[in-house]
Amino acid sequence: MRDRIVAGLTSIVGATDVLVDSDLRRTYETDWTGRFSGTCTAVVRTSSTREVAEVVRFCNSESVDIIAQGGNTGLVGGGVPRSSSDRPSIVLSLCRMNSIRDLDTAAAQVTAEAGTTLSEWRDHARASGLDTPVDFAARDSATIGGAIATNAGGSRVLRYGTMRQQVLGIEAVLGNGEVVGSLSGLPKETVGLNWPSVLAGSEGTAAIVTSARLRLVPRYDQTITALVSVANIGAAVELLGQLRKSVSSLDAVEVIEPAAMDLVAEHLDVEQPVRASQVGTYMLIDCAGHNDPSSELADAMAAANGVIDAAIATEGPPRERLLAFRDRITEAIATRAQRIGLPPLKLDVAVPLNALGQLLEIAQQAADDDGALLVPFGHLAEGNIHLNYLGATNLDQVTETVLTKVAEMGGTISAEHGIGIAKSRWLHLIRSPGDLAAQRAVRRVLDPNGILNPGVLTPDA
Ligand SMILES: Cc1cc2nc3c(=O)[nH]c(=O)nc-3n(C[C@H](O)[C@H](O)[C@H](O)COP(=O)(O)OP(=O)(O)OC[C@H]3O[C@@H](n4cnc5c(N)ncnc54)[C@H](O)[C@@H]3O)c2cc1C
Repeated sequence: MRDRIVAGLTSIVGATDVLVDSDLRRTYETDWTGRFSGTCTAVVRTSSTREVAEVVRFCNSESVDIIAQGGNTGLVGGGVPRSSSDRPSIVLSLCRMNSIRDLDTAAAQVTAEAGTTLSEWRDHARASGLDTPVDFAARDSATIGGAIATNAGGSRVLRYGTMRQQVLGIEAVLGNGEVVGSLSGLPKETVGLNWPSVLAGSEGTAAIVTSARLRLVPRYDQTITALVSVANIGAAVELLGQLRKSVSSLDAVEVIEPAAMDLVAEHLDVEQPVRASQVGTYMLIDCAGHNDPSSELADAMAAANGVIDAAIATEGPPRERLLAFRDRITEAIATRAQRIGLPPLKLDVAVPLNALGQLLEIAQQAADDDGALLVPFGHLAEGNIHLNYLGATNLDQVTETVLTKVAEMGGTISAEHGIGIAKSRWLHLIRSPGDLAAQRAVRRVLDPNGILNPGVLTPDA
């Protein structure tokens, strides 16, 4: 059976791109956090949509499961093989498909293959005086396909929305091997189901994304970043309101709780740039415009209560140093987790802004009950907090407690990372039985044999 599968895949993509050796497969079989891993028959690296379609058709005929993978930076276990499965599986890596073409300045659009990284997309846009609307710390590895499949967010959602809003056209291979979609990128078209909407957030369960027509945005040369300490989370929300009212160039408003600030300062071996006593929380505010945003930002900060201290930088290394306090947190958490010898538990949730204080209290109580260290940070503007538990031992109990409360608060159990394997058991907290049944039915139509990422997203009935 195994030999027949390998021979069939080799006849489609060639022997060099069918990795069967366990040493070669290893990095594809374990996720970024080290929490999720499994074994696959082979890693298959396709180079074209035609090859993807042929691989999907072959896997249908042999009942082989397919786990699509981009940069393998996903944080919910959806991009690596399942640890317990009685069917053979392959990891289908899109990383060789990374060409970018047809940048149209007037339309502010570009076409990128699924394996293009966010950095490659950004560099290509910037070379033409434009920029990309989605950005986050995993930019050098995370891919367009992965970002669409997880409906990724990041820091610029406040201004431009999530990945779903950036996809003007898509090309994808359905679970039955059919190629669907269009890359024409027409902003206005009403002809039935819209594939970008259907597939954004589908986490590799309905189709394999092979290319996308993507929106670009203006490149601003006047930037300013402020790292601000405030008295408490309520003061942070009040300042957010002031910023929204008066700073037209607002690009990102992030929240960094003191535990995250301490951890990243230790990881980078640097002093915290703002005064630390009596701090309730920290905010990272990023502005970018054609005009200098400094005075708008200063006025908004002066009008808010509870601001304790601020460090401000406009460009170059001083600004990079401030941005590192946001961009390097996930890495700092992973480093500490490695030292402890336990993978971190990551709960990516969002609640209405007025419930953030309550969420943080509940999350802290869950950490105390488990004896874990809680490291929260996130995207304040969307009420999106990443609750990272270090040294947690009863992961299911902590997850159950926190996600149940989040649902009761009218929040979501996944703001931007997806449901994956990690949270599929809790999807019922925010989706009705009828909703889940409809989602399963759609999935069955697009992937009749259920070979695309089984176990991910919608739990089994
Ligand atoms: C340091 C760090 C910071 C991060 N910050 C953020 C953040 O701010 N915001 C955010 O949203 N996420 C963040 N993430 C999470 C992660 O980077 C995103 O989920 C990203 O979109 C995953 O892209 P990927 O190419 O690595 O996908 P993978 O990890 O390879 O896969 C993720 C999921 O997408 C599916 N998939 C991948 N490619 C395809 C394809 N071509 N077609 C169909 N399905 C596919 C996989 O099957 C899997 O279910 C961060 C991760 C790290 C490590």
